[in-house]
Amino acid sequence: MSTGIVTLIGAGPGDPNLITVGGAAALAAADVVVYDRLAHPSLLRHAPRAEKIYVGKKADQHAMKQDEINALLAERALAGQNVARLKGGDPFVFGRGGEEAEYVRERGIEFVIIPGVTSAIAAPAYAGIPVTHRDAASSFAVITGHERDDARESGGRAAGQAEGRRRWDKIANAGDTLLFLMGVENLEEITTQLMAHGRGADTPVALVRWGTWAGQQATLTSTLGEVVERVRAAGFKAPAVTIVGEVVNLRERLRWFDRGALAGKRVIVTRAREQASGFVEMLRARYAEPIEFPLIRITSPGDNYASLDTAIGHLNTYRWVLFTSAPAVSHFFARLFAAGKDTRALSSVKVGAVGPATAAALKEFGVVADFRPEAATGAALAEELPGEIAGARILIPRAQEGEAALLQILTDRWAKPDEAAAYENVVDGEGAEEVRQRLAEGSVDIVTFTSSSTVKNFVSALEGTPLPASVQIACIGPSTAATATELLGRAPDILAKEHTLGGLIAAMEEWA
Ligand code: SAH
Repeated sequence: MSTGIVTLIGAGPGDPNLITVGGAAALAAADVVVYDRLAHPSLLRHAPRAEKIYVGKKADQHAMKQDEINALLAERALAGQNVARLKGGDPFVFGRGGEEAEYVRERGIEFVIIPGVTSAIAAPAYAGIPVTHRDAASSFAVITGHERDDARESGGRAAGQAEGRRRWDKIANAGDTLLFLMGVENLEEITTQLMAHGRGADTPVALVRWGTWAGQQATLTSTLGEVVERVRAAGFKAPAVTIVGEVVNLRERLRWFDRGALAGKRVIVTRAREQASGFVEMLRARYAEPIEFPLIRITSPGDNYASLDTAIGHLNTYRWVLFTSAPAVSHFFARLFAAGKDTRALSSVKVGAVGPATAAALKEFGVVADFRPEAATGAALAEELPGEIAGARILIPRAQEGEAALLQILTDRWAKPDEAAAYENVVDGEGAEEVRQRLAEGSVDIVTFTSSSTVKNFVSALEGTPLPASVQIACIGPSTAATATELLGRAPDILAKEHTLGGLIAAMEEWA
């Protein structure tokens, strides 16, 4: 068996968008991912087929020792596996990446380094503090708060050199802006020494905790003279980047990430992955952290489009085609095109649609719906469908198991509805484990529901894990709200006035 490769990957500082394209690709190719506390757990989604090994601190246990991590990397690579070593920030900035690379090379194992966005620069940036600025700083230095002890965060052992022997005269003047990592516990020593070596007591200081991580970011601003007391009073804890220098004042003008009503809110998105991206982008644009929990996946129907293909072959025998969802539209047109036809095949039929998203999907194929009911329900569409429809054939391309009301009402009006399965919703609990864990540790602010089925699937995927009272329930419309009230045992806290994703966001902003 050939030896695997070890890839040291910079995970970036937290925000899962800050991994590099190369880093994500290396995760996708890995057999095993070895990661620690400062790498965002969402990044593991890039490695769906890999084994995941956590080597960071656990609540009541110590992290794995550095020697053990080194041995683990080598052992797996020698067994022929490609090992992704995912490290917070940049692997070569106080990450002990150099030691890991050296260790595996000594054993004849190849390695690759994929640099990452370091927290030293990114955490200040997310706090609105540039590390250089034409008017305020022309250099910066990144300094460890613990000499020879950069192991502390990753769990290794301190070695050697006493604090007293650090060259504080050099450190104090190493750059206009000083960036200390692993400095919170040692803040008193740091500030005292900096002041003793020429930095004024009124020099601005900021600490950014869990920078770029939604919801966990907290920034404290002060001065060299006062910051120790402020940190103590606030109970401010690691991990944080400590920034010393005039650039700190720029935060007043450049603050962005932690502004705005939804900034930092951690929001569960329960839509199918195929439908979620727009909503996820809307949340990101407001600096919220979307937690994707796609409970359903949209696939081709079990009968492989047989009924839909037949209907498409006889489109001119129908008076109406009714669409109740955007995926119904896209699957219908995919089959229409597959049959060698185009949008003109609809020229002799009328088209009905439920909801603005469905109408928008139709427009993308050049079709303006002839009718759309005010209320976004299938029942309203069936009841209000204009004109005499007795005896008329009506095609409804829809999900495998659509709601019954639409069909029943059309039949009651003596029409001849004809359902054709256009797609299927398959329950997909991917991410259930992560969501359960995040609910348990209290790191969720809002859970959003965009249909009754998302509520049902959410409840079943959680397998009895209760929804903490601190988590707000947000619903897109009244029928979703009714299902949520019934299945979650409490009424939603947030209800969209306009029953669209934009309306849901607006309601959340109003609440927050
Ligand atoms: N290789 C990492 C640094 C590892 S040392 C990097 O390039 O970012 C660990 C220290 O990094 C922590 O003690 C803390 O000072 C800092 N750190 C890492 N991630 C951070 C974050 N998201 N916010 C603030 N500080 C962070």
